[in-house]
Amino acid sequence: MNWRGVLVYAENYSGRIHRASFELLGKARELLPRISGELFAVTVTSENKAEEYSRELIAYGADKVVEYVVEENHLTNPLIHRNALIDAIKYIKPKLVLVPATPWGRSIAPRVAASIGTGITADCLDVYVDDEGNIVQVRPAFTGNIIAHIKTLTNPVITTVRPGVFQVPSPDYGRKGEALIRSIEASGADKLRVLRVARVKTVKLSEADVIVSIGKGVRSREDIKLFEELAREIGAQLACSKPLVDMGWMERDRQVGFSGNIVKPRLYIALGISGAPQHIAGMRDSKYVVSVNIDPSAPIAKYSDLFVVGDIYDVAKKILQALRNLK
Ligand SMILES: Cc1cc2nc3c(=O)[nH]c(=O)nc-3n(C[C@H](O)[C@H](O)[C@H](O)COP(=O)(O)OP(=O)(O)OC[C@H]3O[C@@H](n4cnc5c(N)ncnc54)[C@H](O)[C@@H]3O)c2cc1C
Repeated sequence: MNWRGVLVYAENYSGRIHRASFELLGKARELLPRISGELFAVTVTSENKAEEYSRELIAYGADKVVEYVVEENHLTNPLIHRNALIDAIKYIKPKLVLVPATPWGRSIAPRVAASIGTGITADCLDVYVDDEGNIVQVRPAFTGNIIAHIKTLTNPVITTVRPGVFQVPSPDYGRKGEALIRSIEASGADKLRVLRVARVKTVKLSEADVIVSIGKGVRSREDIKLFEELAREIGAQLACSKPLVDMGWMERDRQVGFSGNIVKPRLYIALGISGAPQHIAGMRDSKYVVSVNIDPSAPIAKYSDLFVVGDIYDVAKKILQALRNLK
């Protein structure tokens, strides 16, 4: 069988295409000259959104959009999405399938890989084509101590990629493309009924422009209020290192790093964070990094544009006071 081109699973939620889907379309376009074939986006949608989604996906780089139009109550059923993706893979026969490593994408992709008997590499940080034309998937392994470069020996290659690692391409609403509607059977989907969406992620760190990130330099849960106020006053999102999540002081959605969010803000302010490799893995692509630490030899200094040796409480209070004076 001739496997060609790239298929991007375009996740949508609350009536919008997930930004990570656009990031994958941008990466797929970059890879396509080495893979040959076309770039397909596949999405499961309600009838009233089909046209809008296909227009957007073509603008962000898809040559063809394959849409599975389903009833509203099937939109949140992962088995319907699994069936759609399996149908699309059999129909398109893509060499590479890219799926956002969002909680939703992480639940769909392994079901698809298992159903069609191919390999999956989860949670990748990069994908490239080597000199021999093999697709290589890059992801941390052994608790982040090594970066593994993985080749899948079966077809198609299925890869989930963390949101935020690739740039969103600029949309071109003048691009020409094609939209196809396909139908799927709801077979097996009735075995799973979605009663309610338990929790909707409210923090979107991967889209934040400015982030104030706190670490174990914060002495108590109560003290977080000071840094929340600082973040609010400078229009930043509040984030943290892993220990604060492990202690139950902060929500997991706010964790930056290898096992949290990958962020790329314009400004990343790290307060009382030492700069462990697992934390750096999540913020190293920030445009400008300012860090404050009492220890002049803290490893985060190497990754900072401005490294302040000082107490985070003093610095936070002084900035807040200066802002009050300005007002
Ligand atoms: C499999 C695995 C996955 C992981 N994933 C992640 C991840 O996604 N994200 C993550 O962050 N970590 C992750 N970790 C944990 C990581 O290895 C570190 O333990 C963690 O990042 C350390 O957090 P920290 O910098 O806040 O704490 P510490 O390393 O304890 O550093 C605290 C810093 O605060 C400074 N400090 C203390 N008091 C003050 C003060 N008053 N003013 C100024 N500075 C002060 C200290 O000098 C120190 O540098 C992971 C670990 C493993 C094994």
